[in-house]
Amino acid sequence: MEAVTKNFFLFLSKSTLLNRAAQNWGEGIAAGKIIGGSDFQSSIKFIKDLNDQGLAVTVDHLGEFVTNASVAKERTEECIETIKMIASEGLDSQVSLKMTSLGLDINHELVYENMTRILEAAEEQGIMVTIDMEDEQRCQKTLDIFKDFKQKYNNISTVLQAYLYRTEQDIEDLNQYSPFLRLVKGAYNESPKVAFPNKADVDENYKKIIKVHLLNGNYTAVATHDDAIIDYTKKIVKEHDISPNQFEFQMLYGMRSKTQKELVEEGYKMRVYVPYGNDWYGYFMRRLAERPSNIVFAFKGMTKK
Ligand SMILES: Cc1cc2nc3c(=O)[nH]c(=O)nc-3n(C[C@H](O)[C@H](O)[C@H](O)COP(=O)(O)OP(=O)(O)OC[C@H]3O[C@@H](n4cnc5c(N)ncnc54)[C@H](O)[C@@H]3O)c2cc1C
Repeated sequence: MEAVTKNFFLFLSKSTLLNRAAQNWGEGIAAGKIIGGSDFQSSIKFIKDLNDQGLAVTVDHLGEFVTNASVAKERTEECIETIKMIASEGLDSQVSLKMTSLGLDINHELVYENMTRILEAAEEQGIMVTIDMEDEQRCQKTLDIFKDFKQKYNNISTVLQAYLYRTEQDIEDLNQYSPFLRLVKGAYNESPKVAFPNKADVDENYKKIIKVHLLNGNYTAVATHDDAIIDYTKKIVKEHDISPNQFEFQMLYGMRSKTQKELVEEGYKMRVYVPYGNDWYGYFMRRLAERPSNIVFAFKGMTKK
């Protein structure tokens, strides 16, 4: 049943018609609830509000799988503008982005050119850039890009997904770069050939990679809404006397807001992932695919003024 619901929402996430309708409803329905605003400027007030509550932020301009070089360049310009605004507004925010939004599916040179410009701008402002991880087909290419840039820039981080069999080895291979990594369960529909099909195995592998990365002495962002994983992380850092400066928790904007604040009150660093842009429909459907009870949350959130 769970798989049927998941596939249903993943199917809906690809509907062009519904996507267009959602874009037309625009930010009114989703802004300040599951996304910032329809652009970065209109997201600033929500980010300031989070910062005022002690929550750090990472922002992501929604829209992936770009197939046109000029759109990838536009995305790059927008990202650089966002970096400048983060600095000029004094926001406590990093930037997250997907390699397909910079042209990964178009050509290699284009991504390197776009990414260099973004990292230069971010370095100038002392802002960290995290490369989100997309589907397994793009994982090796994404990690190669990360490794190349990590040799030149310190302000770069990426993501590893616990559901992939390869991740345990990736975390060891990346150790030589002393990387900042965001660790997640994984959000895409992957084949059992490359990913654990059972949730319990994903959770076990997640715990394993959190422990390995922390004990390797590397900065670890544990990005989850799962209390069991949060409690496990708290236990490991306590047992091994790991400094609060070596790890943080991350959650998505609008999800478990109360828990986010409680973690801050307990003294943990908490970062909220704030997506913005008109392309919020597919993102939202993927969140529903992960957890259908988010429908109740979404309905309440969207109807509340
Ligand atoms: C900041 C951030 C960045 C991410 N970046 C990426 C990325 O780059 N690539 C990628 O593939 N994936 C990414 N993800 C998504 C991630 O891979 C998971 O798909 C997503 O986080 C759902 O898994 P989960 O760990 O939250 O736990 P789940 O397995 O979805 O949930 C476990 C349990 O947590 C509790 N829970 C979950 N959600 C809620 C809620 N809304 N309210 C109350 N309880 C809840 C429930 O008890 C649930 O049973 C990111 C996630 C976050 C938070």
